[in-house]
Amino acid sequence: MATTTAYDIPFNRPSLTGRELEYMADVIRSGHAAGDGSYTRRCHQLLQGLLGVPRALLTTSCTHALEIAALLLDLEPGDEVIVPSFTFVSTANAFVLHGARPVFIDVRPDTLNLDEAQLEARISTRTRAVVVVHYGGVGCEMDPILEVVRRHGVAVIEDNAHGLLGRYRGKYLGTFGCLAAQSFHETKNFSCGEGGALLINDTRYAERAEVIREKGTNRSRFFRGEVDKYSWIDVGSSYLPSDILAAFLYAQLDARDRIQASRERIWHTYLAGLQEWAHQHGVRLPVVPSHCDQPCHLFYLLMPSLEERQALIAHLKARKILSVFHYLPLHLSLMGRRFGGKEADCPVTEWVSDRLLRLPFYNDLTESDQARVIEAIHDF
Ligand SMILES: *Cc1c(COP(=O)(O)O)cnc(C)c1O
Repeated sequence: MATTTAYDIPFNRPSLTGRELEYMADVIRSGHAAGDGSYTRRCHQLLQGLLGVPRALLTTSCTHALEIAALLLDLEPGDEVIVPSFTFVSTANAFVLHGARPVFIDVRPDTLNLDEAQLEARISTRTRAVVVVHYGGVGCEMDPILEVVRRHGVAVIEDNAHGLLGRYRGKYLGTFGCLAAQSFHETKNFSCGEGGALLINDTRYAERAEVIREKGTNRSRFFRGEVDKYSWIDVGSSYLPSDILAAFLYAQLDARDRIQASRERIWHTYLAGLQEWAHQHGVRLPVVPSHCDQPCHLFYLLMPSLEERQALIAHLKARKILSVFHYLPLHLSLMGRRFGGKEADCPVTEWVSDRLLRLPFYNDLTESDQARVIEAIHDF
């Protein structure tokens, strides 16, 4: 991939919203920079209060939050986890790493979310979980999905990397699955460079999740004064971020109204500026059903063909604007094929993967830079 510096308008860049550096200095001055300090606690409380989830735990990434979820499922060899083929690698890899076989399912052509109509046919006696991804923060059809999984006794895990503050029928994304994973990677709405969170909706998992996150020890209970020493009681790893990162993140989460206001402006400016052009050129813009509130994570174009998608990337590049495609079908990847992915029937994923293009989208994208992007597209 080309470096960002070759472009006047990058695809993404991190930004300071206000108090990030002040809070980070505060951590250093406090004398405790390791994990689970005061800013981590503030992030936990903020996420729990805002979303109404019983327990939120910051992690080093969304990938790691998904890995904790995989460990909590106690997967056995041969167990299957259903994942959309159109998603980031971690949605599948986190479960494969802990023993599962991924079963790929196609996405809907409108929202690009897991196609719930195909779900029941993918469920077998070995299915342990379905991982839903709310693409662009537009909610999957959770009502029918939950109905099917409940009937089969299968867990739902949400990869909600795109969807913090998004809602499905008024309820926050990340509150539907027994567990949900958030990302605070630099490309997401709220960021600390690299980071994530595990949301625990089924409290039966809460105590063990804490142990897994703390190297398999009951150190969290020790710090709360609930046990008088801590020791090795389960498997685990090191999944808690430094309080320095939590401080950066807290400043961003605390400024969520400002961040979301600018992202809403950017998203709706793209929509207004490109609707007519898209209609004339056979280009499809994001579909947001009326029962979904989306958090303006990304804005994409679905071009009529791979050739036109590549030509538009080159056209924008010549104007020093970086636009990027998105996921390659997991079922056709080298790893996906090892799990029989080649036989998975995911034509929509393949179609979308060839045609989707994401436009520059970051919290401090200026109106004039965005106007330049829109104008360059009109010139295509
Ligand atoms: C960004 C992303 C991830 C990975 O997040 P990290 O925090 O980088 O581990 C996982 N799933 C989806 C859908 C993502 O967009």
